[in-house]
Amino acid sequence: MMPEQSLRLRPVDVAVVGGGPAGLSACLELAGSSSLTVSLFEAADELGGIPRSCRLFFGMRDLKRIHTGKGYADLLNCRLRATSVAVHTDTTVLGIEPDAGEGFHRLRIVSPKGCRTVESRAILLATGCFERPRENRCLPGTRPAGIQTTGSLQEMVRLQGVLPGKRALVVGSEYIALSCVLTLLKAGVAIGALIVNDAGTGLPKLLARGLGTLYRFPVLKNQRITSVLGRRRVEGLELADRVSGESRRVDGDLLVVTGEFRPYTILIDPTTIRQDPVTLSPIIDEQMMTSVPNIFAAGNLVGQARMHDLCALEGRRVAKHIRQALKG
Ligand SMILES: Cc1cc2nc3c(=O)[nH]c(=O)nc-3n(C[C@H](O)[C@H](O)[C@H](O)COP(=O)(O)OP(=O)(O)OC[C@H]3O[C@@H](n4cnc5c(N)ncnc54)[C@H](O)[C@@H]3O)c2cc1C
Repeated sequence: MMPEQSLRLRPVDVAVVGGGPAGLSACLELAGSSSLTVSLFEAADELGGIPRSCRLFFGMRDLKRIHTGKGYADLLNCRLRATSVAVHTDTTVLGIEPDAGEGFHRLRIVSPKGCRTVESRAILLATGCFERPRENRCLPGTRPAGIQTTGSLQEMVRLQGVLPGKRALVVGSEYIALSCVLTLLKAGVAIGALIVNDAGTGLPKLLARGLGTLYRFPVLKNQRITSVLGRRRVEGLELADRVSGESRRVDGDLLVVTGEFRPYTILIDPTTIRQDPVTLSPIIDEQMMTSVPNIFAAGNLVGQARMHDLCALEGRRVAKHIRQALKG
């Protein structure tokens, strides 16, 4: 067995959890403007977060230049590697133990090197958000293979180069449903239908209709899914019109359920950090500090599914608050 000491990493001033736009930008700001020791922990094997699997229009408000998602992630990664920040990819933070009066918090981490702990004076939580998966949605009917969220679809198509199906049915009422349609079309997957599952407030309707006309798929509004069809694999959906009650069937071998974002709160759920009862995000003050001193939060963990550049700017802002807090 390894001696206890070797299971601990060197203590740091700031531990940042999550290497997306918010976490990366906070690290860059801390590295450029302070002598604080900073460690960044990222579960994936590469830095960048969600943008890694996205396409266009990244970096407008924070970098003042437009990049592809991957280009944006690579640029931040490259800049960070040139700083003194200790980067730990492939490293998942399993839990945090807030300071019990000793002056530091503890993080439990796991990586291919094993399970270890790290002590830090401050923690920045920048773990982002995710779409509600199929298991948490009321989808009546069978539970076959071939049901995905946009996040898993984008990762499959863009990062792994896997074609998830031939004809997709996309369900959603937010902007991301269109992003999903574009990803599928670019990958060569036909769209069977875009089903707007409620009033469709966040979906740019004109654009949706335009795409529907151009690529010849119906945009169906006011529909209720009455059944997912298919035994082993999705074969289609049975829908009922909310107004007329009329039912119809649409065919496809892939169902993508989009939107309905949730903050990624698994690290804070078991702690005393106060959460908003509706959104479940940690409650933060003007300094972006949670209810536990010196534990901060930024990015889409605190404001679900905002654009990446706003999260990056927030990362820079929280870094200034962290620096200020640790001065004392
Ligand atoms: C499916 C999807 C598609 C999106 N598409 C766009 C888009 O096209 N354009 C746009 O502007 N915005 C898009 N967004 C919004 C997007 O979340 C933001 O653009 C931006 O990526 C948020 O930055 P972030 O740093 O807060 O979180 P993220 O980019 O989500 O980064 C969080 C990081 O934390 C890591 N992490 C989480 N938990 C742990 C842990 N316990 N230990 C270690 N690491 C951990 C994750 O692996 C991830 O890399 C999308 C969001 C989703 C969910």
